[in-house]
This record gives sequence, C-alpha cells and structure tokens, in this order.
Amino acid sequence: MEKRIYNFSAGPAILPEDVLKEAQEHLYMLPGVGMSILEISHRSKTFDKIIGDAREGLRTLLNISQDYELLFLQGGASLQFSMVPLNFMPPKNKADYIVTGSWSKKAVKEAKRVGEVNISASTEEAKFNRIPKQEELKLNADASYVHFTSNNTIYGTQWHSEPVVGDVPLVCDASSDILHKKIDINKYAFVYAGAQKNMGPSGVTFVILRKDMLERSSDTLHTMLNYKTHVDNGSMYNTPTTFGIYIIDLVAKWLIKNGGLDAMYKLNKDKAGILYSCIDGSAGFYKGHAEKDSRSLMNITFNLPTAELEQKLIAEATAEGFSGLKGHRSVGGLRASIYNAFPKQGVEDLVSFMKNFQTKNS
Ligand SMILES: *Cc1c(COP(=O)(O)O)cnc(C)c1O
Repeated sequence: MEKRIYNFSAGPAILPEDVLKEAQEHLYMLPGVGMSILEISHRSKTFDKIIGDAREGLRTLLNISQDYELLFLQGGASLQFSMVPLNFMPPKNKADYIVTGSWSKKAVKEAKRVGEVNISASTEEAKFNRIPKQEELKLNADASYVHFTSNNTIYGTQWHSEPVVGDVPLVCDASSDILHKKIDINKYAFVYAGAQKNMGPSGVTFVILRKDMLERSSDTLHTMLNYKTHVDNGSMYNTPTTFGIYIIDLVAKWLIKNGGLDAMYKLNKDKAGILYSCIDGSAGFYKGHAEKDSRSLMNITFNLPTAELEQKLIAEATAEGFSGLKGHRSVGGLRASIYNAFPKQGVEDLVSFMKNFQTKNS
C-alpha cells in the first residue's frame, strides 16, 4: 500500500500525521540522547522532561488549575471503573450513575462491588439513542459522587453540557471526547480517559483529579489501586507507559500549535456537520441513530434501509480506502469516528462516496 487511508476506527484511532512523522524520526534516536524513546529509562532526565511537558501541555489546553493533579495510569479506562468506586465511594458507600451506554453499564458493574449504586437515569429502553434531560435525573444529595460518560462511543451520543449535580463531586469517563473542546474542569472532581481515542496510543489512561478527593482514598487499598500512590510518585510508582506518554506530549504540542481546543472544537463541529447534513439530506436512505440534540461530534452512527445494503456499503467503502466504518458489534449499522486528528477532507470524501452509493442503490 502506497498511501495512508482514511481511518474511521473508534479506537485505537487516527493520530495526527505530523505526530507520527516526528515519532518515526525519534524512534531510532531522540535528538541529543543517542537512544530511542523506546529504550530510555523512565528515571532519565529526558523522560522527566517528556512527562512534564505532556502534563503541562494538557494543563494549558484544558486550563486546569493547581487544585488538580494530572496522572498517567495503566489498565485503560476499564480499570478506572474499579478504582473510582474503591477510592471515592467510602465512607458513604453510595454513588449515582447516569447510564447512557455500554461503557456506563460496565462502570456500574464494578461500582456495585463496592457499594450501593443509584441509577440516576438510563436511556437503555431507547437503545441509548439519547442523553437524558436534566429534569429526568434522580440525584441523591448525599451521594459520594455522580458518574457520567461524556461521549458514548458505541451509540454516537454526547453530553453537550455537564449534568448539574450541586455539591456532589462530578466524575466523568471522557475516553472518547477528551480534548475535543475546552471544558470547565472546575465543574469536575475527577475525569478519566483512555488515551487511544482522542489523545494518543493505547496503554495509557489520562486522569484529572481534584486534590481534595484524595482524602477519601483509604490506606487499606492495594498500593497500585490507590490514587495517592500515583500522585505521590508522579505517575511513576511503577514503570509508566513511556512511549504512550511521549505521544501524548506530541499530540498536546500539535493541538497547541494548531490553535488549541477552541480551534479544534470549531473544526469538529464543522466536520460532524458535513456528515450529519448528508444523513439528514438523504430522504431517509441514511438514518442517524442518535436523536438530533444528543448527537456526538466524535462518533457518527447511522443505518441504511437494510443490513445487506450496510454490508455492501462497508465493502465498497473499504475497497476505496475508507476503513473502520462498521458499527460496534453490539449495535450493528455504521459508525464513522472522526476524532480531532481526522482530516476534514476525509469527511468530505466520505460524503461524496455516500451520495454516490445512494444514487446507485435507491
Ligand atoms: C473505549 C472506551 C472505554 C474503554 O477503554 P479501555 O481503555 O479499553 O479500557 C471506556 N469508556 C469509553 C467511553 C470508551 O470509549
């Protein structure tokens, strides 16, 4: 294969070309170091600077105050499903969870092992095609925290503003939309994101933790499962994902160079708008899964009139260099994931392909 194709994969997902090229160059030898990023010690001065830069880059992009610690952990977002309740549910041992998709459900499953889970709302009956409205949320004023999933990668829905939770700490799984726009971190007590969707490669989880939350982490917790361990050791209690953190550093620099998150948000709205107008203008040939006001800017999910046509489209699209359009196995249909690094030209090309496909097949 001579050229890169359009990668619509939900994750691990597309990375900026500039980042890949720089990493490729440094993979053999980091400038001034004489060794590859894959070979250096995490205790070296070089890596110290890389992890420091990554942290500072993210702090700048999201405008995160010193009230928050930034961590790079392992075990994916999935391990956070356990670490969050283990650390933050005590002493009350009850938490509110808003269920908007499969990932929220998995988070609930682990929280139930620790304490009492109140499902504040669930849109499962509507096949998770929407985000619940504020007035639907049944929130407990004395909950340990409220957990929500900001973007539902599988169903293609997204919260466009945070649930309002009063003084209860807000916890968010932002795995598939972190860095897609500026959010007000001060509304959150804790944010976590597997890096492999919108910020880097797989194997590293980014965590934003408000310092007061650490008071809840009991010393009886296993060392590696306690956030205090990772804060006290600068995310280096054990060997961190050095390569992953290095790529995150490059991605943060790429974002800053390209105008930061406001510019990115504008571009993301633009890109998603092009694809949604194609769906909406197709006289029902393409049907979006998500309700309009719950639509995701990151993962665009849709169906065709028949499963046969869906398969045909995926096959023809793949042959033309549009990869990863098959919907998640649990929902079927199609899904175009268009994270920060996905080029606008790729969306425009997909839309012309879809228009052609419709003409030939309706
Ligand atoms: C992908 C994803 C996860 C799981 O991430 P892992 O890093 O594979 O554990 C969790 N939550 C959301 C919203 C996701 O998109």
